[in-house]
Amino acid sequence: MSTLEIRDLTATVAGKQILNGVNLTISSGEVHAVMGPNGAGKSTLSAVVMGKPGYIVTGGQVLLDGVDMLALPTWERAAAGLHLIMQYPTEVPGVSLGAALAEALKGRGREGDVAGLAASLKREADRIHFDEKFLDRPLNVDLSGGEKKRNETMQMAILKPKIAILDELDSGLDIDALRDCARRVMDATREDGLGALAITHYSRLLDELTPSKVHILVKGRIVKTGGPELADVLERDGYAAFTPADSDDESDAVSGDYLAGL
Ligand code: ADP
Ligand code: MG
Repeated sequence: MSTLEIRDLTATVAGKQILNGVNLTISSGEVHAVMGPNGAGKSTLSAVVMGKPGYIVTGGQVLLDGVDMLALPTWERAAAGLHLIMQYPTEVPGVSLGAALAEALKGRGREGDVAGLAASLKREADRIHFDEKFLDRPLNVDLSGGEKKRNETMQMAILKPKIAILDELDSGLDIDALRDCARRVMDATREDGLGALAITHYSRLLDELTPSKVHILVKGRIVKTGGPELADVLERDGYAAFTPADSDDESDAVSGDYLAGL
């Protein structure tokens, strides 16, 4: 059983305060959705948790099973069990999928799994409907949006992280790819005890990837947490009801009175 705890996390990017005190706890086997309008800080949250350069933590904690992730370089966070599927997966010319995964397994002390990697890749590719002919390609090079997300989901399935952050898994995907990727993540929660933090602004992802909790992130802060029904409310009413109508200043925190009224 693993737990990721994000406590009072504040962060700046390019000198601007983007995260304003995020609190979130997610454990093995759970799916939590983080929903929010464009620019709310969703990708920033994932970048800060993974330690992307340029994202400066100004307060708070990120703990995986009690271990301070913020003190570790990104690769050690990944080896400890954090995984990110990026909104826009990076193409890495010159590095094959197999080589990247073999190194990642070794970095996790799983040298024993390297010999069976080719077979695992074939099995996982088949399971997620990722064309085997792409397995020999450099990482994500010349793949369509849907193929990239299938590829990234397949890597997650092989690496078996404790907690995965899926930053808009649904962006750039057609309906079939969306279903394949969402189901594979859902299966991992059952089979491997994966905890998944699914960032999205559309509820359709959550039809396949059923969250136990839905959090609404506005202006770098979680303004409401509820069950799956909250996603339906958002689908119907949009984010307007959760967005303070006060000012144009994006750095304004959501007021306490406003939060109390939710
Ligand atoms: P979301 O993913 O919720 O749409 P982001 O986290 O990408 O939002 O962005 C939140 C805010 O932070 C935006 O105003 C965005 O312009 C700013 N931001 C994010 N990353 C950077 C960056 N690397 N440089 C400058 N500004 C950034
Ligand atoms: Mg984003």
